[in-house]
Amino acid sequence: MQISKTLLITGVSSGFGRALAQEALTVGHKVVGTVRSVQARRDFESLAPHGAFGRILDVTDFDAIDSVVSEIEANVSPIDVLVNNAGYGHEGIMEESPLSEMRRQFDVNVFGSVAMMKAVLPFMRTRRRGHILNITSMGGFITMPGIAYYCGSKFALEGISEALSKEVKQFGIAVTAVAPGSFRTDWAGRSMTRTARSIVDYDDVFDPVRKAREEKSGKQLGDPRKAARAMLAAIAADSPPVHLLLGSDALGLVRGKLSALDDEIRAWESVTVSTDG
Ligand code: NAP
Repeated sequence: MQISKTLLITGVSSGFGRALAQEALTVGHKVVGTVRSVQARRDFESLAPHGAFGRILDVTDFDAIDSVVSEIEANVSPIDVLVNNAGYGHEGIMEESPLSEMRRQFDVNVFGSVAMMKAVLPFMRTRRRGHILNITSMGGFITMPGIAYYCGSKFALEGISEALSKEVKQFGIAVTAVAPGSFRTDWAGRSMTRTARSIVDYDDVFDPVRKAREEKSGKQLGDPRKAARAMLAAIAADSPPVHLLLGSDALGLVRGKLSALDDEIRAWESVTVSTDG
């Protein structure tokens, strides 16, 4: 039987966050969802008048996060599950993309997620239970030209999630890094930021990637509702995974990456071990 839990999900206005909130409400969980406007809060709460609680929060408003979490703990319910979902993709060739774009990408995808985790952990640690899901990406394992800042942010979140899982397991707190492949959300549409092109040398490597992404937007293989059900299965598990890939594209590409990495490690093994002693 499904045990009812309270989930705090960042970014429930669309995509994975919205789908997870809807599926969680359907099976009887309580959901506190963060949004960034009064209208979005109203829309979200109308999903389930007694089960959906909206809170307005930009995850880069670092000074506000602790008080928002404390208020939820006091006025809604203890948080059983935090889902760090809020995030966006920056697209741009690294040499062309200003550092300010990288800072923004890391502020939202990495620092925002870490600040949320730091806010819920004291409560979860005191209770000796809890589960944190960080939505990373297959871009936290594989890379392609034109999304260096995005991949960097998701590699960072993968690493932080895995290390944190080793720190908090002793307190009965699980951490799962969820790495989706391509899904039909607003990620490659309204949410993506794109740095303007300026160096023609990169046209050949980058133009086809950008064009393919634009053409595929809205037609991706993955169904966010099915991703939501997969995440609910991880939340219900006695031993949740530390890493969870979602989508057959993620599976194939990440396996290919790990195998190519292993090949390269083997090819250079004698040089690698030559530095001992
Ligand atoms: P989405 O439909 O664009 O949803 C993104 C959500 O994040 C929106 O609710 C958005 O709120 C919120 N958000 C963005 N910046 C925020 C900020 N600074 N503070 C608070 N909320 C913020 O895209 P999505 O695909 O569901 O994205 C969810 C997560 O999945 C992201 O971390 C993304 O990187 C990851 N992901 C997506 C895919 C994919 O193929 N779709 C694949 C791998 C990973 P607003 O409505 O206010 O903008």
